Amino acid sequence: MKTTSYTLLENGTVVNADGEEQANVLIRERKIVQVSPKLTIPVDTTVIDCSGKYILPGIIDSHTHMGIPIKNGWSADDFDSGTRAALKAGVTTILDFTILEPGQSLTESVAKRLKQAEKSHITVGLHCNITRYEKSLLKEIPDLIRQGIRSFKAFTTYEEAGMYLTYAQIKKVARIIGKHGGLLMVHAEDNETIKAATKQYSGQNLTHPKYHALSRPPEAERLAVEKLVEIHQQTGCPIYIVHLNTAAGLEIAKAGGLLVETCPQYLFFNDSVYEQPDGRMYVISPPLRKPSDQKALWEGLLNGQVDTIGTDHCPFRLSDKPEGLPFEQIPNGMGGIETAFPIMLAKWLKEGWPLSRLVQLMSSHAARIFGLYPQKGVIQAGSDADVVIFDPDNRQTITQQDLAGRDAWNGYLGLEAVWPG
Ligand SMILES: [Zn+2]
Repeated sequence: MKTTSYTLLENGTVVNADGEEQANVLIRERKIVQVSPKLTIPVDTTVIDCSGKYILPGIIDSHTHMGIPIKNGWSADDFDSGTRAALKAGVTTILDFTILEPGQSLTESVAKRLKQAEKSHITVGLHCNITRYEKSLLKEIPDLIRQGIRSFKAFTTYEEAGMYLTYAQIKKVARIIGKHGGLLMVHAEDNETIKAATKQYSGQNLTHPKYHALSRPPEAERLAVEKLVEIHQQTGCPIYIVHLNTAAGLEIAKAGGLLVETCPQYLFFNDSVYEQPDGRMYVISPPLRKPSDQKALWEGLLNGQVDTIGTDHCPFRLSDKPEGLPFEQIPNGMGGIETAFPIMLAKWLKEGWPLSRLVQLMSSHAARIFGLYPQKGVIQAGSDADVVIFDPDNRQTITQQDLAGRDAWNGYLGLEAVWPG
């Protein structure tokens, strides 16, 4: 009979959401058995020396889009390639989104997406997109929550893509989700504001990517967030704003009791990148904003206004966004899962900010919000052995070699990173 052996992570610094300590971590059958400065080592144990290294709970990226259909094929990552890249960067869990096809029920959309996710190399959970307002779909929500799909996502825009729900519809959806103990995630950009702004530029064959940002002004986020605060207060449903990225939106969301996610792209870049030769590759929605917004977001990471960092990972190849496309035809999205934690960590260490706060933003808060805690998001006895180990001195500049084998364009080359391992 095969005996199951132990693994011991010895002499590292364990960082959880509530602080750090020098401790040994004993693992067996992919579970953490014990975390202690002193412990008795079982006979059959593989010891890994972690002196000088930190041990964090595995990173949870609660906002990814693997394998998205586009005009002539697919986005650059599917669940196989995307989760392989994620693992290299310390991510051990992703939460992706269903795609609701015409005629499909929510339950069918979940089943199809779970099937696609089978080739993943890490833990995958799903949020359920509600991109059509139909009575039959709403009836499925309570059962889905009972089955463990407890987060749903609605869009206040993308009318042209058939994904838009009105505020009145979102309120009805929120009431049902709230009543059954679920959570509503929202892409918050006001549709009417975008439509009015887009009208000024669309259809004129304008190819400069700056028009993408001009057609989706920051007021769109402010207005949508204001409406969602009202909906939250009227329905009691917890509301989580994905990829929030303006200073005004952040203030209103937090004052109104909403949960807030932001993404590395909104922290590290502003709308000046649209002037670069590869500016079209940074076409994402919502668009990149002003330095003053970046400043507010960085402050929000430290002062508690921002709850989580997700990536909105949806990479494309250079050929997917050829030069000369009118701005409204450029596919929206960029990758980030393979660099998010390494660049955040490099910044954190450089500034000397508490690592426990980074654990909150990139692991424990997501685990709690999405019902994965304490199985995920913490290093303690009984939790999954999802850990990320790094040497704080392993600081490098990101080069194409770090992203070997990937044909996706990456916007983060040249930035400083601390890679796990
Ligand atoms: Zn997204």
